[in-house]
Amino acid sequence: MTETFTPGRPIWCAGCGDFAIQGIMEKALDSTGISRHKFMLLSGIGCSGTMQNNVQCYGYHALHGRVLPTAVGAKLSNPELTVIAAGGDGDGYAIGAGHLIHTFKSNPSIIYIVMNNSTYGLTKGQPSPTSPTGYRSNVEGDLDAIMLGLSISSTTFLARGFSGHPEQLEDLMVSALEHTESGKGLAFLEILSPCVTYYDTHREWRSRVLDVNNDDESYDPGDRAKVFQKMIEITGEGRIPIGLIYKGEYPSLESLILNSDYPPAALQDIKSPAIKEDYRKTMNSFLG
Ligand code: SF4
Repeated sequence: MTETFTPGRPIWCAGCGDFAIQGIMEKALDSTGISRHKFMLLSGIGCSGTMQNNVQCYGYHALHGRVLPTAVGAKLSNPELTVIAAGGDGDGYAIGAGHLIHTFKSNPSIIYIVMNNSTYGLTKGQPSPTSPTGYRSNVEGDLDAIMLGLSISSTTFLARGFSGHPEQLEDLMVSALEHTESGKGLAFLEILSPCVTYYDTHREWRSRVLDVNNDDESYDPGDRAKVFQKMIEITGEGRIPIGLIYKGEYPSLESLILNSDYPPAALQDIKSPAIKEDYRKTMNSFLG
C-alpha cells in the first residue's frame, strides 16, 4: 500500500514572518512548474526548522547547524532534485557557520534560505549572531552574511528579502529557483523574518530596508567590487540592503565532481552486477 505524506499545520506564533516565507516559497515553486515529487526541503533546528513538516514534498529535519552538508549530499546523490535548505540565523550563522563558508566556496546548485530574525526565537530570545550590539546585553558585533558571501570568490547568487515585502520576495524566490534549476550554483537568500514574540523588529526593519535594485538604476549586481563598496555605504547609513545583491558565475560543485567515474548514487541501476560487486567489496572492507 502506498501512503502519502500529509503536511501538518504551522506551529508558529500568530504574526511570525515565517508564515509569509513558506507561502511565497510554495507559490514560487508552483509558478516555476516544479513538481512536488522532485522537490526536497531540508531544515535546521529552530522555529523556522519546522517548515518541512508543513509542505507537500520530500522533507528532512537535519541536525543542528548541519542542514547544508545534508542538503548538498541530497543534491549530489540526485541532481534531478530541486533542493532547498532552510533554517534560521542561529542555526546557520552560529553552529552552522563553518558549513556556510564551505558551501559558499563549493557552489552546489541548491537554495539556502535563512530566515533571519536576529534572535533565538525557539529558546525565548537570546542574542544570535545577527543581533545588534546591546540587544539583551549582547557585547558582540553583528554578522552580515551577504558581506561574508561577497568575500568568497565562488559565490554566484546573494540576495536578501523581507517578509513584509512579499512581491519582491516572490521575485527573489523565483530568481533563486531559476539559478539553481539551470545548474549555476548556490542561491543564497537571507530573508528578514521578524520574531513578533521575543524581538519584534517589524516596524524598525520596514523603515530601514532599502531595495538596491530600484533605488539606483546604475546598480550592477554583476560587479563584485562595486557591490561590496555599495553595501558598506548603505549599511554605514543605518539602512539594510535588500534585493538581488550579487550575481556572478563560477562552476557548480556537481558539474565539477559528478562524472561517469562518480555518477549520482540515486540514478545508478542498483540491480547491476557491477554495483552489487562494489557494494560487496565496500562491506567486506569494514570486516578487515
Ligand atoms: Fe516566530 Fe518568534 Fe514565535 Fe518562533 S518565537 S514562531 S520566531 S514569532
